[in-house]
Amino acid sequence: MKNLLGSSIKELENIALKYGEAAFRGRQIHNWIYNYRNKKKDINQIDILPLSFRKKLLVDGFKVSELSLQQKNLANDGTLKLLLSTSDHESIECVGIPSEKRITACLSSQVGCPMDCKFCATGKEGLKRSLKTSEILDQILFIENEMDRKVTNIVFMGMGEPLLNIDDLLLSIKSINEDFQISQRKVTVSTVAIPKMIKKLSEKSFQILGNCQFTLAISLHASNQKTRETIIPSARNYDIKNIIEDCKQFVRDTGRRVSFEYLMLSGINDKLEHANELSNLLRGFQCHVNLIQYNQIDEVEFKRASLKNLKLFQDRLLNNGIAVSLRKSRGLDKNAACGQLRQNTRNK
Ligand code: SF4
Repeated sequence: MKNLLGSSIKELENIALKYGEAAFRGRQIHNWIYNYRNKKKDINQIDILPLSFRKKLLVDGFKVSELSLQQKNLANDGTLKLLLSTSDHESIECVGIPSEKRITACLSSQVGCPMDCKFCATGKEGLKRSLKTSEILDQILFIENEMDRKVTNIVFMGMGEPLLNIDDLLLSIKSINEDFQISQRKVTVSTVAIPKMIKKLSEKSFQILGNCQFTLAISLHASNQKTRETIIPSARNYDIKNIIEDCKQFVRDTGRRVSFEYLMLSGINDKLEHANELSNLLRGFQCHVNLIQYNQIDEVEFKRASLKNLKLFQDRLLNNGIAVSLRKSRGLDKNAACGQLRQNTRNK
């Protein structure tokens, strides 16, 4: 199978030339695939191309999309969660989160995940495999098709650890930027952090993208090493202080501030002493904290922190000079936590 999705204008022009067509046919394919107004899942639908050319592409195994829609859940607030099937019968999730001016696509980078974070439904099932660039990009097409709006922002916060699929991650960001015309600055890569990989991410980004303008978001979720290890078992390989040092280096290398994701878990990390500890850890470099309400899942003992604790925590960080915002959970009523829809569908 050869995917047209993820191919640049130049590559598509070369494909057209190879089949004896004029180069502009390649540009037509490019426009067809990446213009969100086209409901483009199938080469046969690109009816601007001569039928004979379409037939040749199909006979030679070319495809636009190789994922298929398994299930969709629309929450009351308009958040759309999709369960998609891969050609090898695995399932992945992606989410479209609407607001007045933008649609944020939350994408998966792997089928399952090896990191085993204790609060996460995806982590319970382990890793099946990493996604190809075309499978990552296909999620954007599905969201645009289903929501009938152009995706404006991308967050890699779905299933999987993006830094364990770094080449396909960066190639998909290249296409998101050049083909989907979404600025790198509107892309966020979220990681639980893996030793040596933060440095590798910036280095590879300069090689593949020519710069590194996306936002790096670290799933920190704790203010000290001990607590972090109870929430994220893989954290035992990477001391929290070393993560912060590597993030400071990332800021020096790229000029981009780093975000820290902090899931507020009742009785675990939501006290003022944690807010003070976190402030001490983060003080003195370009960063920002996102406090997140937890979407509870079955079989996990963690509970969502109260709104009162969340506000107190936020105020304490602000008073300590740390930039902070509160991220509300979206689509809470419909299997909104990462991996939950996939898990519930399987259990059924
Ligand atoms: S939170 Fe992210 S990194 Fe952790 S297990 Fe879930 S998908 Fe993997």
